[in-house]
Amino acid sequence: MIVGGVAGGASAATRARRMNESAEIILLEKDEYVSFANCGLPYHIGEEIVDRGQLLVASKELLERRFRLDVRVRHEATAVNRAAKTVTVRNLSTGEDTQLSYDKLILSPGAAPFVPPIPGKDASGVFTLRNVADMDHIKASVDDSETKTAIVVGAGFIGLEVVEQLVNRGFQVALAEMQPQVLPPFDAEMVEPIQCALQANGVGFYAGDGIKAILTDDMNVATGIELSSGQQIKSNLVILGLGVRPNTQLALDAGLNIGKTGGILTNRWLQTNDPDIYAVGDASEYVTCPTDSSMRVALAGPANRAGRLAGEHAATGSCHPIANVLGTAIVRVFDQTAGMTGLSLKAATRFGVNATSVTVVTGQHAGYFPGATPLTLKLVFDPTDGRVLGAQAVGKDGVDKRIDVIATAMTFKATVQDLAGLDLCYAPPFGSAKDPVHQAAFAACNHLAGVDTFIPADADLSDAQLVDVRTSDEVKKSPLAGGGHAVNIPVDDLRDRIGELDASRKTVVSCGVGVRAHVAARILRQHGFDNVRNLSGGATVRNRAVKEG
Ligand code: FAD
Repeated sequence: MIVGGVAGGASAATRARRMNESAEIILLEKDEYVSFANCGLPYHIGEEIVDRGQLLVASKELLERRFRLDVRVRHEATAVNRAAKTVTVRNLSTGEDTQLSYDKLILSPGAAPFVPPIPGKDASGVFTLRNVADMDHIKASVDDSETKTAIVVGAGFIGLEVVEQLVNRGFQVALAEMQPQVLPPFDAEMVEPIQCALQANGVGFYAGDGIKAILTDDMNVATGIELSSGQQIKSNLVILGLGVRPNTQLALDAGLNIGKTGGILTNRWLQTNDPDIYAVGDASEYVTCPTDSSMRVALAGPANRAGRLAGEHAATGSCHPIANVLGTAIVRVFDQTAGMTGLSLKAATRFGVNATSVTVVTGQHAGYFPGATPLTLKLVFDPTDGRVLGAQAVGKDGVDKRIDVIATAMTFKATVQDLAGLDLCYAPPFGSAKDPVHQAAFAACNHLAGVDTFIPADADLSDAQLVDVRTSDEVKKSPLAGGGHAVNIPVDDLRDRIGELDASRKTVVSCGVGVRAHVAARILRQHGFDNVRNLSGGATVRNRAVKEG
């Protein structure tokens, strides 16, 4: 029996059937729809996916006919009696309770959107987005909106997707986020291009200001929100995208173990502390890479893969153990895409993991081929052995490929030296002979070998002899943040003007993105400068990381 009929649950049920033709498989779903595309919901609101039916990936009827599943929609599992191996199921249409027995039980009840206990949270016009019904309600409000204004609270993945889609529908959108940046899992400087894209599309971004209350009129209709700062924003449409809380009550009541991050604990075969009960998806925890710690990862990929494995194990008694989960994620925001896998540098710090990083800014494909656009790639690695710990990328194109390559490498515990040696496909429309992945890996290898030592883009440069090796025109156009004391010596003049510099001082070299600075650093080192650092990502990343004034 399976509780929850969408990402994890439907994957479990169909795999179980494919592996065992004779099993009796009951799929319980408390809502109206099974196997719908949660991830596509924002795009129907924005009418990028025009046909609502496209989101209903596999209907109840298809699951029944093709997979011989006993699909019971509007049936909620309300209790699990482990001793009797039964589940109490309420038919939500009739209110009737029945007891169903199971040999194996798979829990995939997902998670519920977090709604803070603030005034006005139940007002009309306030929405969260989790399922088809939520989407229908939001879309109806969007379709009927006279003011064409909306407030989105929470600048995570779903919040940003909704913002983009509302703007595409002609809405004036305000986005409020408690953290000082969009996409809080990313390192701050990496999401600056996303914030610029929001600005370019007229989105008002209220950063570092959490929601305090939803403002309402006498009829309890939302009229706007008030932020912690006291600032008020007006609109009748408020969409909360504040993350999710795992649906663990059923598991808790049944005495199943819950992990430190609040999800149901399982072993490598997705079994809970009761070997006949499995748990997958947003309600559960996974062992994550690279820390090997157990935590919740509320993403569709892990839910689908875990569901498939649990279905197989329940149906046959064996399956491959689930691989560590990296939290690989991606989002498109207008013309920009941001993706990440593994640890950001700030997450590494939070987990006490010894980590450093390099950042490269380079074309997603050969610069001479039409359509080249900059891609920023930050590689996080262990400075002692070069093991890759994570990566983040942002740009208009090619983000998915680089993040997936690095995620794949991380799965096999790759080092930066391994990345540098990857034999990736190349022709000018697709990449470069030295792909951005290689370039980041080369920089990391240079750092590890002491060939070129990088310092982070936001480092304090005040005590350093700072050498900006760009042309004077470039420096004038885009001065280095916090670099008022920099000496400007273009890289091609460096050998001739080296006497202007003090070889005994700590020296930091910087250029546009770090490439010319690498050449400069090598020149200086071979001319007796022993303490030379390369500013990672050059002025481009520095000026995203450090805001002056
Ligand atoms: P769900 O897919 O939510 O399924 C759980 C089901 O269980 C629900 O239908 C619920 O009604 C049912 N249920 C709960 N309790 C009971 C009960 N007691 N009895 C019966 N039924 C019950 N992830 C990505 O990786 N990429 C994306 O682009 C992405 N975009 C997203 C966009 C949106 C708008 C949303 C909401 C999510 C998105 N996700 C994305 C996350 C992804 O959808 C989830 O991680 C995934 O669906 C989790 O699968 P699950 O099976 O755990 O939960």
